[in-house]
Amino acid sequence: MVKETAYYDLLGVKPNATPEELKKAYRKLALKYHPDKNPHEGEKFKAISQVYEVLSDPDKRAIYDEGGDAAIKKGGADTGDFRNPMDFFEKFFGGGFASGRRRERRGKDVVHQMSVQLEELYNGATRKLALQKNVICDKCEGRGGRKGAIEKCMQCNGAGLESRIQQIGPGLVQHIEQVCRKCAGTGEMISEKDRCKQCNGRKTVRERKVLEVHIEKGMRDSQKIVFSGEGDHEPDSQPGDIIILLDEKEHQTFVHAGTDLMMKMPIQLVEALCGFSRVIKTLDDRDLVITSPPGEVIKHEMTKCVMDEGMPLYKNPLEKGRLIIQFEVIFPESIPVSIIPALEQCLPPRPEVTIPIDAEQVTLSEYDPKQRRDQHHHRMAYEEDDRYEEGPRVQQCSSS
Ligand SMILES: [Zn+2]
Ligand SMILES: [Zn+2]
Repeated sequence: MVKETAYYDLLGVKPNATPEELKKAYRKLALKYHPDKNPHEGEKFKAISQVYEVLSDPDKRAIYDEGGDAAIKKGGADTGDFRNPMDFFEKFFGGGFASGRRRERRGKDVVHQMSVQLEELYNGATRKLALQKNVICDKCEGRGGRKGAIEKCMQCNGAGLESRIQQIGPGLVQHIEQVCRKCAGTGEMISEKDRCKQCNGRKTVRERKVLEVHIEKGMRDSQKIVFSGEGDHEPDSQPGDIIILLDEKEHQTFVHAGTDLMMKMPIQLVEALCGFSRVIKTLDDRDLVITSPPGEVIKHEMTKCVMDEGMPLYKNPLEKGRLIIQFEVIFPESIPVSIIPALEQCLPPRPEVTIPIDAEQVTLSEYDPKQRRDQHHHRMAYEEDDRYEEGPRVQQCSSS
């Protein structure tokens, strides 16, 4: 039982979400609302990080489920303190994401989430991806203008910052440093006529880049493919990276679990008792036939596996995991009463039951887990009240 669902709602998952589902939801939203992409959604980014920080920790999740947001906030240093959402984000994605705080001069990493089908992870695939990035302007070679036309900004003497002296009281002055308004912090000036026509003095231009992304056999959800130095490039700095983050789509038959594939297989009761054959279409379009051993009974939710028909191992694709099959036995709703004696002949004998002479015969009803005993009682009481309602109702009228 969950007290409130606000944290789950924020991540767009159900309160019974698995850790994997939570992780996926956080990843998707964190990339969407990251300040690099969505500078106006800083609060949302923070909220998502904090909520995930709680729900990804089993202990904190239990506290939230039991007592809601108030219990988390009340928990103090142990539960109510959150990490910096940017640190949390970077830890989650395992670093490699440039941020404003990075000391070395390096262009921004470009992160791109790419949807992939399970078939592509099984067979490998090459996908083309077109994206926009900043590159150094080739016309002016990143100078922003004609050679020799670049002059030091006179306002800030090339520092990019200007300091002002402000008098704040009699005999009291304060030095204020701010970004030079004349050169916007670059420390350089290029006169209008000498400015590069291609980049308009900005030194970089947007370029459309088509990348070939090689999805290798055995890759998995969340795996990163890094194109080193293919990210944004600014003058006097190293270009950032392009990072492709794989996002595996759900498959209609198989669930990908490590190197194994899992599937559910419904079979009829007659097949469970008398044997069956099934054809399984593999992810590389082969047909596998499975047949149950004669005389063996398949029980409901029984699990079996086929060795070496799971996912190929990453970097070692000739080796494969297991194909795990869980059977769901479909029982008939009812059977004709006339066949019961014949059926009984085939099945193990039923146990002897002794019924005491004063035993009570009761009725087996359909079970509804939502209908609790106390609710039932409540309704009964209410119905009883109804019968005596006439008296009080008259009293209410006369008093108003
Ligand atoms: Zn240029
Ligand atoms: Zn300046």
